[in-house]
Amino acid sequence: MKILVPVKRVIDYNVKIRVKADGSDVELSNVKMSMNPFDEISVEEALRLKESGVAQEVVVVSIGPGKAEETLRTALAMGADRAILVETDDTVEPLAVAKILKAIADTEQPGLIIVGKQAIDDDSNQTGQMLAALLGWAQGTFASKVEISDGTATVTREVDGGLQTVSIKLPAVVTTDLRLNEPRYASLPNIMKAKKKPLEKTAPSALGVSTSPRLKVLKTEEPTGRKAGIRVKSVAELVEKLRSEAGVL
Ligand code: AMP
Repeated sequence: MKILVPVKRVIDYNVKIRVKADGSDVELSNVKMSMNPFDEISVEEALRLKESGVAQEVVVVSIGPGKAEETLRTALAMGADRAILVETDDTVEPLAVAKILKAIADTEQPGLIIVGKQAIDDDSNQTGQMLAALLGWAQGTFASKVEISDGTATVTREVDGGLQTVSIKLPAVVTTDLRLNEPRYASLPNIMKAKKKPLEKTAPSALGVSTSPRLKVLKTEEPTGRKAGIRVKSVAELVEKLRSEAGVL
């Protein structure tokens, strides 16, 4: 079985985000970029399935600027076999990403696509679900455990009330939650080897997908800073402040 894993290049989760002076977007120049953390978890899960003999090949794909090649090289250094870069400088919304991934899935015919549950930059949480719908495949979202046998994936899902286990027929789309696994680090020798692994480049138009935006960003603002807290001397004082100052009682 082949596993397809989309990996998005996003602002590193440790970076303090700054909004551009004109409020049009967040500042991306001179900012450290990394693989979306949920996609690292997807790559790790795909590699574990390969190591356990369930899968034979792990193909990673990124849609983004030329620099997304670095993100793909990181996935190759972790152990993926081959990479596809769908190069575009446009901001690609989840529906267009899902259409591109569908076009790639039509050619590659994977048995499983492991998608991050959400990209930490746009926080959409849409791509995996849209992709499953476009392909007409089953989906197991927010997975904290995945087991594959006899053409079926048993997916434990993190839902509000606890854990739900579903059984879905392959081919399917699974989206990864934080507790699924702890991704490995790429070792230096593997980083060197990854430079020679195959990386194919294409473009959204070559796959018949338009990336024209459907959303218009009206403005981007930094969240208002938190006010400093105060210490009260008694419960009576707390109740009084909740009533007279916060107006919540
Ligand atoms: P989203 O629906 O935008 O929150 O993204 C969910 C997941 O879709 C991500 O974790 C990735 O696995 C995948 N994805 C979204 N955008 C891209 C992209 N530009 N390139 C590759 N994968 C992507």
